[in-house]
Amino acid sequence: MTDRPLLMLDVDGPIAPFDRFFRPWGYRTHRVPSQTWRQRQLDKGVTDPKPLRVWLNPAHGPSLLALPYDLVWATAWQAEADEHLAPLLGLPQLPYVSWESMHHKDPDGLHWKTRQLVCWADQRPFVWVDDEIGPQDAEWIAANHPGEALTMKIDHRSGLRPEHFARLTAWAGELGR
Ligand SMILES: [Mg+2]
Repeated sequence: MTDRPLLMLDVDGPIAPFDRFFRPWGYRTHRVPSQTWRQRQLDKGVTDPKPLRVWLNPAHGPSLLALPYDLVWATAWQAEADEHLAPLLGLPQLPYVSWESMHHKDPDGLHWKTRQLVCWADQRPFVWVDDEIGPQDAEWIAANHPGEALTMKIDHRSGLRPEHFARLTAWAGELGR
């Protein structure tokens, strides 16, 4: 199985769309008791924070599992993605990137995940799905990752859509040809 590419999955945006008034079609509303979220709210002075509202599409779990990829959480949710989101999506417990540092400024203007993802991939081919990827990230990955890589910037308001799944399938099929 190790010749399968990795699919590095951001949560907020691609899996859990946000920043829109109406819930997207096909999604369900969940209240997730994330400890990280709760602490952040407490730090902001919110006295009795509600669980985090998250929109998830239950079709995404089976669709992701059907892809010829090894799935990896690449999200600030870290272990909480497995704890809270995987069961709601119908996903098994997945490996996740345990970040050395999050939300830091990068000296070259890269996203804070970029260098750590390339390190984590350890030369394996990968696709990175995220709503915050910039052109500089794609360029840096092309120059510094010895394997094949694809970045897919997803609109944070609409999340992963059928055309993204089609592209992921096509890209994996072209690998090594
Ligand atoms: Mg995101």
